[in-house]
Amino acid sequence: MTILDGKKTSNDLKDEIAIEVAKRKSEGKKIPHLAAILVGTDGASMTYVNSKVKSCEKVGFNSTLIDLPEDTTEEQLLNEIEDLNKDKDIDGFIVQLPLPKQIDAQKVLMAVDPNKDVDGFHPVNVGKMTLDLPTFLPATPYGIMELLERYKVETSGKNVVVIGRSHIVGRPMSILLSQKRPVGNATVTITHSRTKNLEKITKEADIIVAALGKAEFLTGDMVKEGVTIIDVGITRVKDDSKRRGYRLAGDVDFESVSKKAAFITPVPGGVGPMTIAMLLKNTLLACENRD
Ligand code: NAP
Repeated sequence: MTILDGKKTSNDLKDEIAIEVAKRKSEGKKIPHLAAILVGTDGASMTYVNSKVKSCEKVGFNSTLIDLPEDTTEEQLLNEIEDLNKDKDIDGFIVQLPLPKQIDAQKVLMAVDPNKDVDGFHPVNVGKMTLDLPTFLPATPYGIMELLERYKVETSGKNVVVIGRSHIVGRPMSILLSQKRPVGNATVTITHSRTKNLEKITKEADIIVAALGKAEFLTGDMVKEGVTIIDVGITRVKDDSKRRGYRLAGDVDFESVSKKAAFITPVPGGVGPMTIAMLLKNTLLACENRD
């Protein structure tokens, strides 16, 4: 069994990006600048945004954090987005999800300039991805593709089962893996909460991408020997033995599934760090596009 080490791979990626940034600097080119908007004080969102900003520092990017209160109106947020769209120094920006309920997330994502949409959520970029045109791929699926590539996991002709059909993980994952590309050419089944006999489907899978957000949902008896497991889930599970009062759990029961798997991502240290590295990669690309 091989661990698909997202922490190590993301550090390799960050080193590669840092080299590119240093090169740009020595050539007198613009330093990539990522901005992040955070609305409210959701604990997990604050953690994600802070680690994105910290990663920017690590690779030599400039970064800006726009911290807005929980009661921010939709109009106020749209104004902030407009300012970032116009700001010549900002190459890319993200709006951390989820947003407070008074704000329509779809409206917000539509307002982001597609050329600065380094999360790859704008319909223009989703459309380009679907048509296999160059664009910003959504960071989590992009990170999974990168992990599969770097660990040389064969996807061509394989049966892939994606659990979850969200716009940010499951759906794009299913599109990318079915495309005619080096990491791709798979036969993909996308499953969701209405899927019947999920266990029968997962047992046939060569590769499973679990992205449903239910702690330790996928167990050893649901998979076959030699399967590749990509665990996207991150759920905070109450744990009084931890100082912070919770532990992070994936969607996969690592204990039982790892006994049968050929490759598996851990949680934490798998898909999570890759997501941040790919966001940086997209920001570098946005900056290069503007050269
Ligand atoms: P989401 O929007 O809540 O979508 C969950 C999907 O799972 C839905 O399509 C849902 O089906 C499906 N589902 C729920 N219960 C199911 C069941 N019993 N069987 C089969 N499918 C089921 O979640 P998300 O945003 O994609 O995130 C999924 C997980 O990944 C979360 O734990 C999240 O925190 C984590 N995540 C991690 C990263 C990372 O960087 N590692 C990035 C993003 C998300 P319906 O469509 O029918 O409701």
